[in-house]
Amino acid sequence: MRDHDDLKQFFAEAGHPAFRADQLLRDVCKRGATNYEDMSNLPVSLREVLKAQLPVLSIEEKEVSLAPDGSVRKVLLRCKKDGKKIEAVLMRFDDGRRTVCVSSQVGCAVGCKFCATGKMGFTRNLTYEEIADQVLFFVLDLKDYGEEITNVVFMGMGEPFNNYDNVMRAVRHLNDSRALGLGARNMTLSTAGVVSGILKLADEGLQVNLAISLHSPIQKLREKLMPIAAKYPLDDLMSAVSEYTKETHRRVSYEYVMLAGINDDVSLAHELGKLCKGQLCHVNLIPYNFTKGNRFKRSAQDSIDEFKRIVETYNVPITVRVSLGQGIDAACGQLAS
Ligand code: SF4
Repeated sequence: MRDHDDLKQFFAEAGHPAFRADQLLRDVCKRGATNYEDMSNLPVSLREVLKAQLPVLSIEEKEVSLAPDGSVRKVLLRCKKDGKKIEAVLMRFDDGRRTVCVSSQVGCAVGCKFCATGKMGFTRNLTYEEIADQVLFFVLDLKDYGEEITNVVFMGMGEPFNNYDNVMRAVRHLNDSRALGLGARNMTLSTAGVVSGILKLADEGLQVNLAISLHSPIQKLREKLMPIAAKYPLDDLMSAVSEYTKETHRRVSYEYVMLAGINDDVSLAHELGKLCKGQLCHVNLIPYNFTKGNRFKRSAQDSIDEFKRIVETYNVPITVRVSLGQGIDAACGQLAS
């Protein structure tokens, strides 16, 4: 569903009053109407126009994979405008959180070595509507079960800051109280370290969370795992993060995927501790999820525990992320259409 600005313009051009934009958003986002026949408060002639020109959702379901315990639902979605396919994931946590992981691009140009999406290459940016509709899709889906979406993470296919304007517009649309009204603090943007995007976000005045994929505290190794690190070296990244925290007073999360024998050595735990010490940050260790065609292996639980223990000695807050959805290729780094 388009955002309020777009709808207002649409109705103005079609000769209808602006309040129709509020009405339509309310019908879809609050009442959960999925087709125009259900919107009896709109004139029949207008409903016909809307049906022909403005689909309620810009994406449609093609395939669903459900984890056996029901905790994860991965959906393959087709973009109506050109048939391109993307994936979005719903995670149902025991503590009641209902989190949607959205894609921001079809494929990704960043090419992180451990990521299935990176292997697909880049096709195109998603529009703001296609991004926000992944959340709306699950909002409408969960209505039948009396559940609500509580959180959104931009950790699906694509690098959100390489599609900055559409991602920010989607965030504002999702946050708009006339639409879904999701709290900005419940949304997390995740970047592979696009410095320009971090600096821009610092000036947005939004309360969204920022997660940074770090994966190594050493420039050389980081470059091997994430080619984008050559463009945005660790020193520049750290300066941008410091600028960001100074400006926003918001804590950043560092994501660190644990790859056996690659980045889980105790010496790297010490380096990570030194790098993060004194920063307004939190480190998430992510046990690696297998993807086809990759040579990487998940670190042993003992290595993960020891790594965590060492980083903690530097007074850096650190947790090991609960990873859902591995069995259906829906976990971090496993999405590919
Ligand atoms: S991890 Fe994220 S940024 Fe890296 S290739 Fe995969 S989708 Fe792109």
